[in-house]
Amino acid sequence: MVVQTERDEVTWYKCETCGLMFDDQSDARQHEENCDDEDPSYIQ
Ligand SMILES: [Zn+2]
Repeated sequence: MVVQTERDEVTWYKCETCGLMFDDQSDARQHEENCDDEDPSYIQ
């Protein structure tokens, strides 16, 4: 799922699956479609 977040008055789009952030919603959605990292072991 892509979540919208605001930081320093800039809107970012974050892939909830892996935590990657994008400044473009379509980029985030395209990434999410290919993101299968559903168990990010580096986030503890
Ligand atoms: Zn991702």
